[in-house]
Amino acid sequence: MTKEAIVLSNDNSISEIYIDDIGDDHMFTGLETPMKVDAFVMSDIEKKEKISDLFGQIMDVMGMDLTDDSLKDTPKRVAKMYMEEIFSGLNPNNKPKISLFENKYQYNQMLVEKDITFYSNCEHHFVPFTGRAHIAYVSSGKVIGLSKLNRIVQYYAKRPQVQERLTNQIAIDLKAILNTEDIAVIIDAKHLCVSSRGVKDDSSTTVTSYYSGIFKESNKIAELQNYINK
Ligand SMILES: [Zn+2]
Repeated sequence: MTKEAIVLSNDNSISEIYIDDIGDDHMFTGLETPMKVDAFVMSDIEKKEKISDLFGQIMDVMGMDLTDDSLKDTPKRVAKMYMEEIFSGLNPNNKPKISLFENKYQYNQMLVEKDITFYSNCEHHFVPFTGRAHIAYVSSGKVIGLSKLNRIVQYYAKRPQVQERLTNQIAIDLKAILNTEDIAVIIDAKHLCVSSRGVKDDSSTTVTSYYSGIFKESNKIAELQNYINK
């Protein structure tokens, strides 16, 4: 889908029809997370204060009593959680530092790191989607610490996301880091915006994949699927 598909109505608001088309079908507009050019002008401390204030306003509009002991610190907690945890991957400063090692053993078969659990949030509804990522690559001379594969998944998951973009962002970053085209990323996830609202389908999961280099060959895909399904 292209950005042009988002059509603004006369009053400059996205019409209801398009909101539902984009949200419930979980379409996305591009590989990059859509960010403003001035996204990092405000400090993290200022952002936390502002988010806390605005989230308090949402709760207030919904009629909740923010003087209640149970609720009074919720806006602050949400702001802290957004900035330091679940959306910390928006800030490139939080990108994990990656060190590579020489491929001493000359292992030149595929390496598969499977069942990397992640928690992300749908950018259309701001509710969680969660699942497992499987990553495979063939070394072009360097190898990456296994925990770093996990950290890269977590970094890109900690953004308002769509699953297709998450899959692509992980794959494209790994291609650059490992200097190889031979990368595969498969993500199998469950979306709370599908199971808890909308069509209320509790059993479906969504699988997305990115295959490049040798992973475009059907025998390599079969070998990889075999490892993952074990
Ligand atoms: Zn959603």
